[in-house]
Amino acid sequence: DDDLALLHGEVGDDEEGAPEAPLPVLAVVGRPNVGKSTLVNRILGRREAVVEDKPGVTRDRVSYPAEWSGRRFTLVDTGGWEVDVAGIEARVAEQAEVAIALADAVVFVVDATVGATDTDEQVVRLLRRSGKPVVLCANKVDGPAGEADAAALWALGLGEPYPVSALHGRGTGDLLDAALDALPEVSEHGVLRPQGPRRVALVGRPNVGKSSLLNKVAGAERVVVDDVAGTTRDPVDELIHLKGVPWVFVDTAGIRRRVHQTSGADFYASLRTQAAIEKAEVAVVLLDASTPMTEQDTRVIQQVIDAGRALVIAYNKWDLMDEDRRPYLEREIEKELVQVTWAPRVNISAKTGWHAERLVPALERSLESWDMRIPTGRLNAFLGELVAAHPHPVRGGKQPRILFATQASTRPPRFVLFTTGFLDPGYRRYVERRLRETFGFEGTPITISVRVRE
Ligand code: GDP
Ligand code: GDP
Repeated sequence: DDDLALLHGEVGDDEEGAPEAPLPVLAVVGRPNVGKSTLVNRILGRREAVVEDKPGVTRDRVSYPAEWSGRRFTLVDTGGWEVDVAGIEARVAEQAEVAIALADAVVFVVDATVGATDTDEQVVRLLRRSGKPVVLCANKVDGPAGEADAAALWALGLGEPYPVSALHGRGTGDLLDAALDALPEVSEHGVLRPQGPRRVALVGRPNVGKSSLLNKVAGAERVVVDDVAGTTRDPVDELIHLKGVPWVFVDTAGIRRRVHQTSGADFYASLRTQAAIEKAEVAVVLLDASTPMTEQDTRVIQQVIDAGRALVIAYNKWDLMDEDRRPYLEREIEKELVQVTWAPRVNISAKTGWHAERLVPALERSLESWDMRIPTGRLNAFLGELVAAHPHPVRGGKQPRILFATQASTRPPRFVLFTTGFLDPGYRRYVERRLRETFGFEGTPITISVRVRE
Protein backbone atom coordinates (compact mmCIF):
# COMPACT_ATOMS: atom_id res chain seq x y z
CA ASP A 1 0.00 0.00 0.00
CA ASP A 2 0.95 3.53 -0.59
CA ASP A 3 1.78 4.36 3.02
CA LEU A 4 4.23 1.51 3.16
CA ALA A 5 5.79 2.54 -0.11
CA LEU A 6 6.30 5.97 1.39
CA LEU A 7 7.90 4.50 4.45
CA HIS A 8 10.34 2.71 2.21
CA GLY A 9 11.00 5.80 0.21
CA GLU A 10 9.47 4.44 -2.96
CA VAL A 11 7.09 7.26 -3.60
CA GLY A 12 8.12 10.71 -4.61
CA ASP A 13 11.51 11.50 -5.99
CA ASP A 14 14.72 9.61 -5.55
CA GLU A 15 17.58 10.44 -3.24
CA GLU A 16 19.28 12.71 -5.76
CA GLY A 17 16.21 14.87 -5.60
CA ALA A 18 15.08 14.31 -9.17
CA PRO A 19 11.73 16.08 -9.41
CA GLU A 20 8.42 14.43 -10.06
CA ALA A 21 7.58 14.77 -13.72
CA PRO A 22 5.22 17.65 -14.46
CA LEU A 23 1.80 16.53 -15.66
CA PRO A 24 0.90 17.22 -19.28
CA VAL A 25 -1.42 20.15 -19.86
CA LEU A 26 -4.62 20.01 -21.94
CA ALA A 27 -6.34 23.30 -22.75
CA VAL A 28 -9.94 23.72 -23.83
CA VAL A 29 -10.23 26.61 -26.26
CA GLY A 30 -13.01 28.15 -28.33
CA ARG A 31 -15.25 31.17 -28.66
CA PRO A 32 -17.98 31.95 -26.11
CA ASN A 33 -21.07 29.75 -25.89
CA VAL A 34 -19.71 26.82 -27.83
CA GLY A 35 -19.85 24.73 -24.65
CA LYS A 36 -16.32 24.87 -23.20
CA SER A 37 -17.49 25.10 -19.60
CA THR A 38 -19.97 22.31 -20.11
CA LEU A 39 -17.23 20.13 -21.55
CA VAL A 40 -14.78 20.99 -18.79
CA ASN A 41 -17.39 20.14 -16.17
CA ARG A 42 -17.99 16.81 -17.81
CA ILE A 43 -14.28 16.01 -17.93
CA LEU A 44 -13.84 16.99 -14.29
CA GLY A 45 -16.99 15.10 -13.32
CA ARG A 46 -18.58 18.20 -11.87
CA ARG A 47 -22.34 17.96 -11.89
CA GLU A 48 -23.23 21.60 -11.73
CA ALA A 49 -22.11 24.04 -14.34
CA VAL A 50 -19.40 26.36 -13.05
CA VAL A 51 -21.58 29.13 -14.36
CA GLU A 52 -22.16 30.56 -10.96
CA ASP A 53 -19.31 32.64 -12.34
CA LYS A 54 -21.01 35.87 -13.13
CA PRO A 55 -20.23 37.51 -16.45
CA GLY A 56 -17.35 39.90 -16.20
CA VAL A 57 -16.28 38.56 -12.84
CA THR A 58 -12.69 37.50 -12.89
CA ARG A 59 -11.78 33.98 -12.00
CA ASP A 60 -8.33 33.20 -10.71
CA ARG A 61 -8.42 29.52 -11.14
CA VAL A 62 -7.66 28.37 -14.65
CA SER A 63 -6.20 24.92 -14.27
CA TYR A 64 -7.55 21.84 -12.61
CA PRO A 65 -6.22 18.36 -11.92
CA ALA A 66 -8.01 15.85 -14.13
CA GLU A 67 -7.91 12.15 -14.90
CA TRP A 68 -9.08 9.94 -17.75
CA SER A 69 -8.47 6.22 -18.25
CA GLY A 70 -6.14 6.26 -15.27
CA ARG A 71 -3.94 9.02 -16.71
CA ARG A 72 -3.55 12.23 -14.82
CA PHE A 73 -3.21 15.58 -16.56
CA THR A 74 -3.84 19.25 -15.97
CA LEU A 75 -6.90 20.77 -17.58
CA VAL A 76 -6.83 24.45 -18.48
CA ASP A 77 -10.27 26.00 -18.58
CA THR A 78 -10.82 29.33 -20.29
CA GLY A 79 -14.58 29.05 -20.44
CA GLY A 80 -17.26 30.57 -18.28
CA TRP A 81 -16.16 34.07 -18.97
CA GLU A 82 -18.30 36.31 -21.05
CA VAL A 83 -16.33 38.59 -23.29
CA ASP A 84 -17.38 42.06 -24.24
CA VAL A 85 -19.42 42.09 -27.39
CA ALA A 86 -17.24 44.89 -28.68
CA GLY A 87 -13.78 43.63 -29.49
CA ILE A 88 -14.94 40.10 -29.09
CA GLU A 89 -12.58 38.74 -31.72
CA ALA A 90 -9.47 40.18 -30.19
CA ARG A 91 -10.47 38.88 -26.77
CA VAL A 92 -11.10 35.37 -27.99
CA ALA A 93 -7.79 35.34 -29.80
CA GLU A 94 -5.95 36.62 -26.77
CA GLN A 95 -7.58 34.10 -24.51
CA ALA A 96 -6.77 31.31 -26.93
CA GLU A 97 -3.19 32.47 -27.33
CA VAL A 98 -2.49 32.27 -23.63
CA ALA A 99 -4.21 28.92 -23.24
CA ILE A 100 -2.33 27.50 -26.23
CA ALA A 101 0.96 28.75 -24.83
CA LEU A 102 0.23 26.94 -21.58
CA ALA A 103 -0.77 23.68 -23.18
CA ASP A 104 0.85 20.52 -24.48
CA ALA A 105 -2.29 19.79 -26.51
CA VAL A 106 -5.50 21.66 -27.23
CA VAL A 107 -9.14 20.68 -27.49
CA PHE A 108 -10.65 23.20 -29.87
CA VAL A 109 -14.41 23.41 -29.36
CA VAL A 110 -16.68 24.50 -32.22
CA ASP A 111 -20.48 24.70 -32.10
CA ALA A 112 -21.41 22.26 -34.85
CA THR A 113 -24.96 23.60 -35.05
CA VAL A 114 -23.56 27.01 -36.02
CA GLY A 115 -20.59 25.87 -38.07
CA ALA A 116 -17.20 27.57 -38.30
CA THR A 117 -17.34 31.34 -37.85
CA ASP A 118 -14.71 33.96 -38.66
CA THR A 119 -13.67 33.96 -35.03
CA ASP A 120 -13.20 30.20 -35.18
CA GLU A 121 -11.04 30.61 -38.28
CA GLN A 122 -8.94 33.13 -36.42
CA VAL A 123 -8.30 30.67 -33.61
CA VAL A 124 -7.46 27.99 -36.17
CA ARG A 125 -4.66 30.22 -37.48
CA LEU A 126 -3.28 30.60 -33.95
CA LEU A 127 -3.46 26.85 -33.45
CA ARG A 128 -1.61 26.19 -36.70
CA ARG A 129 1.11 28.64 -35.83
CA SER A 130 1.57 27.06 -32.41
CA GLY A 131 2.31 23.65 -33.87
CA LYS A 132 0.62 22.07 -30.84
CA PRO A 133 -1.49 18.95 -31.33
CA VAL A 134 -5.18 19.83 -31.68
CA VAL A 135 -8.27 17.69 -31.21
CA LEU A 136 -11.34 19.18 -32.83
CA CYS A 137 -14.52 18.94 -30.77
CA ALA A 138 -17.69 19.37 -32.83
CA ASN A 139 -19.99 20.16 -29.94
CA LYS A 140 -23.76 20.21 -29.55
CA VAL A 141 -24.18 17.09 -31.64
CA ASP A 142 -26.90 15.81 -29.33
CA GLY A 143 -28.06 13.04 -31.64
CA PRO A 144 -27.30 11.23 -34.91
CA ALA A 145 -29.00 14.02 -36.87
CA GLY A 146 -26.15 16.34 -36.02
CA GLU A 147 -23.40 14.09 -37.41
CA ALA A 148 -23.50 15.85 -40.78
CA ASP A 149 -22.87 19.22 -39.09
CA ALA A 150 -19.84 17.68 -37.43
CA ALA A 151 -18.51 16.29 -40.70
CA ALA A 152 -18.72 19.75 -42.26
CA LEU A 153 -15.95 20.83 -39.84
CA TRP A 154 -13.40 18.74 -41.74
CA ALA A 155 -13.16 21.96 -43.76
CA LEU A 156 -11.24 23.61 -40.92
CA GLY A 157 -8.26 21.48 -41.82
CA LEU A 158 -7.66 20.30 -38.27
CA GLY A 159 -8.31 16.65 -38.99
CA GLU A 160 -11.20 14.57 -37.78
CA PRO A 161 -13.99 16.46 -36.03
CA TYR A 162 -15.17 14.49 -32.98
CA PRO A 163 -18.95 14.76 -32.70
CA VAL A 164 -19.72 15.46 -29.05
CA SER A 165 -22.60 16.48 -26.86
CA ALA A 166 -20.91 18.02 -23.86
CA LEU A 167 -24.36 18.47 -22.39
CA HIS A 168 -25.34 14.80 -22.50
CA GLY A 169 -21.91 13.19 -22.56
CA ARG A 170 -22.29 11.72 -26.03
CA GLY A 171 -18.91 11.17 -27.72
CA THR A 172 -16.84 12.69 -24.93
CA GLY A 173 -15.05 9.40 -24.28
CA ASP A 174 -13.74 9.18 -27.85
CA LEU A 175 -12.75 12.83 -27.73
CA LEU A 176 -10.77 12.33 -24.53
CA ASP A 177 -9.11 9.19 -25.86
CA ALA A 178 -7.90 11.23 -28.83
CA ALA A 179 -6.82 14.12 -26.63
CA LEU A 180 -4.80 11.82 -24.39
CA ASP A 181 -3.19 10.21 -27.41
CA ALA A 182 -2.05 13.68 -28.41
CA LEU A 183 -0.70 14.51 -24.96
CA PRO A 184 2.90 13.66 -24.13
CA GLU A 185 3.49 11.59 -20.98
CA VAL A 186 5.28 14.46 -19.35
CA SER A 187 4.70 18.14 -19.96
CA GLU A 188 6.91 19.57 -22.65
CA HIS A 189 6.76 22.71 -20.65
CA GLY A 190 9.16 21.01 -18.35
CA VAL A 191 8.53 23.15 -15.39
CA LEU A 192 10.88 21.06 -13.40
CA ARG A 193 13.83 20.54 -15.65
CA PRO A 194 16.59 18.80 -13.76
CA GLN A 195 19.19 20.42 -15.97
CA GLY A 196 19.73 23.75 -17.61
CA PRO A 197 19.40 27.29 -16.34
CA ARG A 198 16.93 28.01 -13.57
CA ARG A 199 13.62 29.44 -14.63
CA VAL A 200 12.28 32.63 -13.14
CA ALA A 201 9.04 34.54 -13.68
CA LEU A 202 8.56 38.24 -13.03
CA VAL A 203 4.96 38.69 -11.97
CA GLY A 204 2.79 41.38 -10.45
CA ARG A 205 -0.08 43.64 -11.30
CA PRO A 206 0.12 45.99 -14.29
CA ASN A 207 2.44 48.99 -13.95
CA VAL A 208 4.30 47.60 -11.00
CA GLY A 209 7.54 47.68 -12.98
CA LYS A 210 8.00 44.23 -14.51
CA SER A 211 9.16 45.39 -17.90
CA SER A 212 11.39 48.06 -16.36
CA LEU A 213 13.04 45.44 -14.19
CA LEU A 214 13.40 43.04 -17.09
CA ASN A 215 15.10 45.73 -19.16
CA LYS A 216 17.34 46.64 -16.27
CA VAL A 217 18.56 43.14 -15.57
CA ALA A 218 18.71 42.11 -19.21
CA GLY A 219 20.98 44.97 -20.18
CA ALA A 220 22.70 44.25 -23.44
CA GLU A 221 23.23 40.57 -22.88
CA ARG A 222 19.88 39.55 -24.23
CA VAL A 223 19.45 36.35 -26.17
CA VAL A 224 16.23 34.81 -27.31
CA VAL A 225 16.15 31.44 -25.63
CA ASP A 226 15.34 29.78 -28.92
CA ASP A 227 18.94 30.37 -30.00
CA VAL A 228 20.47 28.52 -27.12
CA ALA A 229 21.03 24.81 -27.33
CA GLY A 230 19.67 22.71 -24.50
CA THR A 231 17.05 25.18 -23.40
CA THR A 232 13.41 25.50 -24.22
CA ARG A 233 12.30 26.42 -27.68
CA ASP A 234 9.70 28.74 -26.41
CA PRO A 235 10.47 32.11 -28.00
CA VAL A 236 8.57 33.96 -25.31
CA ASP A 237 11.32 33.07 -22.85
CA GLU A 238 14.67 34.81 -22.71
CA LEU A 239 18.03 33.70 -21.50
CA ILE A 240 19.67 36.39 -19.45
CA HIS A 241 23.11 36.21 -17.87
CA LEU A 242 23.31 37.68 -14.41
CA LYS A 243 26.86 37.89 -13.15
CA GLY A 244 27.84 35.31 -15.73
CA VAL A 245 25.19 32.80 -14.68
CA PRO A 246 22.42 32.09 -17.19
CA TRP A 247 18.79 32.34 -16.07
CA VAL A 248 15.68 31.75 -18.14
CA PHE A 249 13.15 34.53 -17.69
CA VAL A 250 9.86 32.99 -18.74
CA ASP A 251 7.08 34.66 -20.68
CA THR A 252 8.99 37.84 -21.27
CA ALA A 253 7.10 38.45 -24.51
CA GLY A 254 3.96 38.93 -22.44
CA ILE A 255 5.80 41.50 -20.33
CA ARG A 256 7.40 43.34 -23.23
CA ARG A 257 4.33 43.45 -25.38
CA ARG A 258 2.25 45.75 -23.20
CA VAL A 259 -1.26 44.40 -23.32
CA HIS A 260 -3.64 47.29 -23.31
CA GLN A 261 -5.88 47.61 -20.35
CA THR A 262 -9.47 47.20 -21.36
CA SER A 263 -12.33 45.73 -19.41
CA GLY A 264 -11.66 42.19 -18.43
CA ALA A 265 -7.93 42.75 -18.65
CA ASP A 266 -7.73 41.44 -15.11
CA PHE A 267 -8.73 38.03 -16.26
CA TYR A 268 -6.04 37.91 -18.90
CA ALA A 269 -3.48 39.33 -16.52
CA SER A 270 -4.40 36.50 -14.20
CA LEU A 271 -4.11 33.91 -16.96
CA ARG A 272 -0.73 35.19 -18.07
CA THR A 273 0.49 35.26 -14.51
CA GLN A 274 -0.60 31.69 -14.02
CA ALA A 275 1.07 30.64 -17.26
CA ALA A 276 4.32 32.30 -16.26
CA ILE A 277 4.30 30.88 -12.74
CA GLU A 278 3.67 27.37 -13.99
CA LYS A 279 6.62 27.56 -16.35
CA ALA A 280 8.95 28.91 -13.69
CA GLU A 281 10.71 27.40 -10.72
CA VAL A 282 10.83 30.66 -8.82
CA ALA A 283 8.65 33.74 -9.10
CA VAL A 284 9.53 37.30 -8.24
CA VAL A 285 6.33 39.04 -7.18
CA LEU A 286 6.78 42.76 -7.68
CA LEU A 287 4.93 45.12 -5.37
CA ASP A 288 4.80 48.88 -5.69
CA ALA A 289 6.33 50.27 -2.50
CA SER A 290 4.94 53.72 -3.20
CA THR A 291 1.25 52.79 -3.23
CA PRO A 292 -0.96 50.65 -0.98
CA MET A 293 -1.11 46.93 -1.64
CA THR A 294 -4.18 45.73 -3.51
CA GLU A 295 -6.16 42.54 -3.61
CA GLN A 296 -4.53 41.77 -6.94
CA ASP A 297 -1.12 41.77 -5.25
CA THR A 298 -2.21 39.24 -2.64
CA ARG A 299 -3.83 37.14 -5.32
CA VAL A 300 -0.61 36.90 -7.30
CA ILE A 301 1.30 35.85 -4.18
CA GLN A 302 -1.33 33.21 -3.50
CA GLN A 303 -1.02 31.94 -7.08
CA VAL A 304 2.70 31.37 -6.53
CA ILE A 305 2.07 29.50 -3.28
CA ASP A 306 -0.71 27.40 -4.76
CA ALA A 307 1.52 26.47 -7.68
CA GLY A 308 4.20 25.37 -5.21
CA ARG A 309 6.90 27.62 -6.63
CA ALA A 310 9.72 29.37 -4.82
CA LEU A 311 8.99 33.00 -4.06
CA VAL A 312 10.84 36.29 -3.79
CA ILE A 313 9.02 39.51 -2.98
CA ALA A 314 10.45 42.66 -4.51
CA TYR A 315 9.29 46.03 -3.30
CA ASN A 316 9.84 48.15 -6.38
CA LYS A 317 9.80 51.93 -6.87
CA TRP A 318 11.69 52.34 -3.62
CA ASP A 319 13.02 55.62 -5.06
CA LEU A 320 9.51 57.01 -4.63
CA MET A 321 9.29 56.00 -0.98
CA ASP A 322 9.06 58.89 1.39
CA GLU A 323 9.31 58.75 5.11
CA ASP A 324 5.59 59.49 5.52
CA ARG A 325 4.64 56.30 3.80
CA ARG A 326 7.12 54.17 5.70
CA PRO A 327 4.95 53.35 8.75
CA TYR A 328 2.04 52.40 6.47
CA LEU A 329 4.27 50.07 4.55
CA GLU A 330 5.50 48.42 7.74
CA ARG A 331 1.93 47.89 8.86
CA GLU A 332 1.01 46.50 5.45
CA ILE A 333 3.85 44.03 5.60
CA GLU A 334 2.71 42.86 9.02
CA LYS A 335 -0.90 42.55 7.95
CA GLU A 336 -0.89 41.49 4.31
CA LEU A 337 2.32 39.51 4.14
CA VAL A 338 1.87 37.59 7.38
CA GLN A 339 1.34 34.35 5.43
CA VAL A 340 4.64 34.74 3.62
CA THR A 341 7.03 35.91 6.30
CA TRP A 342 9.26 33.14 4.98
CA ALA A 343 9.75 34.82 1.59
CA PRO A 344 12.88 36.93 1.12
CA ARG A 345 12.04 40.58 0.53
CA VAL A 346 14.20 42.94 -1.44
CA ASN A 347 13.67 46.67 -1.84
CA ILE A 348 14.63 47.82 -5.31
CA SER A 349 14.22 50.46 -7.92
CA ALA A 350 13.83 49.09 -11.41
CA LYS A 351 14.15 52.61 -12.70
CA THR A 352 17.51 53.53 -11.17
CA GLY A 353 18.81 50.00 -10.74
CA TRP A 354 19.22 50.55 -7.02
CA HIS A 355 19.68 47.20 -5.19
CA ALA A 356 18.92 45.26 -8.36
CA GLU A 357 21.97 43.14 -7.57
CA ARG A 358 20.21 41.82 -4.48
CA LEU A 359 17.72 39.96 -6.61
CA VAL A 360 19.99 37.08 -7.59
CA PRO A 361 21.09 36.10 -4.07
CA ALA A 362 17.42 36.13 -3.03
CA LEU A 363 16.48 33.93 -6.01
CA GLU A 364 19.28 31.54 -5.15
CA ARG A 365 18.27 31.30 -1.49
CA SER A 366 14.67 30.57 -2.40
CA LEU A 367 15.60 27.93 -4.95
CA GLU A 368 18.00 26.26 -2.53
CA SER A 369 15.14 25.91 -0.04
CA TRP A 370 12.83 24.72 -2.77
CA ASP A 371 15.31 21.93 -3.61
CA MET A 372 16.09 21.07 0.00
CA ARG A 373 15.64 17.58 1.39
CA ILE A 374 15.76 16.77 5.08
CA PRO A 375 17.07 13.24 5.65
CA THR A 376 14.47 11.02 7.31
CA GLY A 377 16.66 10.41 10.36
CA ARG A 378 17.15 14.10 11.06
CA LEU A 379 13.49 14.84 10.45
CA ASN A 380 12.34 12.23 12.95
CA ALA A 381 14.91 13.30 15.54
CA PHE A 382 13.61 16.85 15.17
CA LEU A 383 9.99 15.72 15.52
CA GLY A 384 10.84 13.57 18.55
CA GLU A 385 12.24 16.62 20.32
CA LEU A 386 9.36 18.81 19.20
CA VAL A 387 6.74 16.38 20.49
CA ALA A 388 8.58 15.88 23.78
CA ALA A 389 8.76 19.62 24.38
CA HIS A 390 5.30 20.44 23.09
CA PRO A 391 2.92 17.47 22.80
CA HIS A 392 -0.34 17.71 20.91
CA PRO A 393 -3.15 18.87 23.22
CA VAL A 394 -5.55 16.20 24.47
CA ARG A 395 -8.83 16.26 22.54
CA GLY A 396 -11.84 14.34 23.87
CA GLY A 397 -9.62 12.21 26.07
CA LYS A 398 -7.34 11.34 23.15
CA GLN A 399 -3.95 12.62 22.21
CA PRO A 400 -2.83 12.07 18.63
CA ARG A 401 0.78 10.98 18.38
CA ILE A 402 3.17 11.46 15.50
CA LEU A 403 4.63 8.05 14.73
CA PHE A 404 6.92 8.81 11.87
CA ALA A 405 7.57 11.42 9.24
CA THR A 406 9.22 11.59 5.88
CA GLN A 407 9.84 14.21 3.25
CA ALA A 408 7.97 12.78 0.30
CA SER A 409 9.27 15.23 -2.28
CA THR A 410 11.16 18.41 -3.00
CA ARG A 411 10.35 21.35 -5.26
CA PRO A 412 8.57 22.30 -3.10
CA PRO A 413 9.28 20.31 0.06
CA ARG A 414 6.33 18.12 1.00
CA PHE A 415 6.20 16.30 4.30
CA VAL A 416 4.02 13.42 5.33
CA LEU A 417 3.35 12.75 9.00
CA PHE A 418 2.00 9.38 10.07
CA THR A 419 -0.10 9.87 13.18
CA THR A 420 -2.59 8.09 15.43
CA GLY A 421 -5.23 10.79 14.91
CA PHE A 422 -5.98 14.04 13.17
CA LEU A 423 -3.83 16.98 14.16
CA ASP A 424 -5.33 20.34 15.10
CA PRO A 425 -4.70 22.95 12.40
CA GLY A 426 -2.97 25.01 15.07
CA TYR A 427 -0.60 22.16 15.88
CA ARG A 428 0.12 21.61 12.21
CA ARG A 429 1.05 25.27 11.88
CA TYR A 430 3.25 24.89 14.94
CA VAL A 431 5.06 21.97 13.29
CA GLU A 432 5.54 24.05 10.13
CA ARG A 433 6.85 27.01 12.10
CA ARG A 434 9.33 24.83 13.98
CA LEU A 435 10.38 23.12 10.73
CA ARG A 436 11.14 26.51 9.26
CA GLU A 437 12.94 27.73 12.36
CA THR A 438 15.06 24.61 12.47
CA PHE A 439 15.82 23.97 8.80
CA GLY A 440 15.32 27.31 7.10
CA PHE A 441 13.18 26.89 3.98
CA GLU A 442 13.44 30.58 3.31
CA GLY A 443 11.59 31.40 0.12
CA THR A 444 9.70 28.16 -0.45
CA PRO A 445 6.19 27.07 0.40
CA ILE A 446 6.12 23.75 2.23
CA THR A 447 3.24 21.36 2.68
CA ILE A 448 2.55 18.99 5.51
CA SER A 449 0.04 16.24 5.09
CA VAL A 450 -1.12 13.83 7.73
CA ARG A 451 -1.88 10.14 7.32
CA VAL A 452 -3.80 8.64 10.17
CA ARG A 453 -2.87 5.01 10.94
CA GLU A 454 -5.39 2.47 12.32
P1 GDP B 1 -18.70 28.41 -23.08
O1 GDP B 1 -19.02 29.87 -23.09
O2 GDP B 1 -17.95 28.00 -24.30
O3 GDP B 1 -18.02 27.96 -21.82
O4 GDP B 1 -20.10 27.64 -23.20
P2 GDP B 1 -21.03 26.99 -22.06
O5 GDP B 1 -20.45 25.70 -21.59
O6 GDP B 1 -21.34 28.01 -21.03
O7 GDP B 1 -22.32 26.63 -22.93
C1 GDP B 1 -23.06 27.63 -23.61
C2 GDP B 1 -24.48 27.13 -23.82
O8 GDP B 1 -24.49 26.00 -24.68
C3 GDP B 1 -25.14 26.67 -22.53
O9 GDP B 1 -26.47 27.07 -22.55
C4 GDP B 1 -25.02 25.16 -22.59
O10 GDP B 1 -26.04 24.51 -21.86
C5 GDP B 1 -25.13 24.89 -24.06
N1 GDP B 1 -24.45 23.65 -24.44
C6 GDP B 1 -23.18 23.29 -24.12
N2 GDP B 1 -22.90 22.07 -24.63
C7 GDP B 1 -24.01 21.67 -25.30
C8 GDP B 1 -24.36 20.48 -26.02
O11 GDP B 1 -23.58 19.55 -26.17
N3 GDP B 1 -25.60 20.45 -26.58
C9 GDP B 1 -26.49 21.45 -26.42
N4 GDP B 1 -27.67 21.31 -26.98
N5 GDP B 1 -26.21 22.57 -25.74
C10 GDP B 1 -24.99 22.67 -25.18
P1 GDP C 1 4.75 46.66 -15.88
O1 GDP C 1 3.37 46.95 -16.36
O2 GDP C 1 4.71 45.89 -14.59
O3 GDP C 1 5.64 46.03 -16.88
O4 GDP C 1 5.37 48.09 -15.47
P2 GDP C 1 6.42 49.03 -16.25
O5 GDP C 1 7.79 48.46 -16.13
O6 GDP C 1 5.90 49.30 -17.59
O7 GDP C 1 6.36 50.31 -15.34
C1 GDP C 1 5.19 51.09 -15.21
C2 GDP C 1 5.58 52.53 -14.90
O8 GDP C 1 6.28 52.59 -13.65
C3 GDP C 1 6.52 53.11 -15.93
O9 GDP C 1 6.16 54.44 -16.10
C4 GDP C 1 7.88 52.99 -15.28
O10 GDP C 1 8.78 53.97 -15.72
C5 GDP C 1 7.55 53.17 -13.83
N1 GDP C 1 8.52 52.50 -12.94
C6 GDP C 1 8.89 51.20 -12.99
N2 GDP C 1 9.79 50.94 -12.02
C7 GDP C 1 10.00 52.09 -11.35
C8 GDP C 1 10.83 52.46 -10.24
O11 GDP C 1 11.55 51.68 -9.65
N3 GDP C 1 10.74 53.75 -9.84
C9 GDP C 1 9.93 54.67 -10.43
N4 GDP C 1 9.94 55.90 -9.97
N5 GDP C 1 9.16 54.35 -11.48
C10 GDP C 1 9.18 53.08 -11.94
